[in-house]
Amino acid sequence: VSPPETPSWRDLERRIVACRRCPRLVAHRERIAREKRRAFRDSPYWGRPVAGFGDHRAELLIVGLAPAAHGANRTGRMFTGDRSGEWLYDALYVAGFANRLDSTNRGDGLVLRNAFVSAIARCAPPDNRPAPDEIERCRPFLVAEIESLTRLRAVVVLGRMALDGFLAAWTEARGPLNPPRPRFRHGASFALGGRGAVTLFISYHPSQQNTFTGRLTRRMLRGVFRRAATLLAQQP
Ligand code: SF4
Repeated sequence: VSPPETPSWRDLERRIVACRRCPRLVAHRERIAREKRRAFRDSPYWGRPVAGFGDHRAELLIVGLAPAAHGANRTGRMFTGDRSGEWLYDALYVAGFANRLDSTNRGDGLVLRNAFVSAIARCAPPDNRPAPDEIERCRPFLVAEIESLTRLRAVVVLGRMALDGFLAAWTEARGPLNPPRPRFRHGASFALGGRGAVTLFISYHPSQQNTFTGRLTRRMLRGVFRRAATLLAQQP
């Protein structure tokens, strides 16, 4: 049984879901929700910003890029209802962080154990690419999540933009990074500076661009989460 929500998490989620600070993204997410994809024409679309999802006492944080137009922008839960989510939750399940390997909708019973999934931008962007000013405007939400995840010991970033966005948020929340500054390379890991001993793992994003081309395989993605699980199984 999960502990009751604390007011600060509830408030944060309310603030995220109500946000309209990026006009381009507000217009896009709402247009997608009105027009819908043919396959989902009978389902309601969320069409709003998407808050982080998972265990508020997590030691592992996963940071993606932004909701997919017909994935999280439809279902209202991070990485839920799209192909990227199928890959991510499969890897989380195999590594013991999730109770099921698929993530189809908010009522599917998926529970994350010791893991919390978030992103550097909360609204579905055109062409899956939030602009730099939109990422910056959205950063306070990730900073607030990092500050609230007081037991963090590991972070997995999915993709190069998520790495950069996460590092900016991390520095704001926890202080300066240890040199050398982490550079993007799938499978690389770094000890982050700032408060607490936290290890950063870097992965390609499980986007179709990467999974269709074979740049990222299931084995590669599962491997990253297995390493994070091994680290967390050791005493801090
Ligand atoms: S991307 Fe972030 S800051 Fe911009 S409107 Fe969405 S929730 Fe607000």
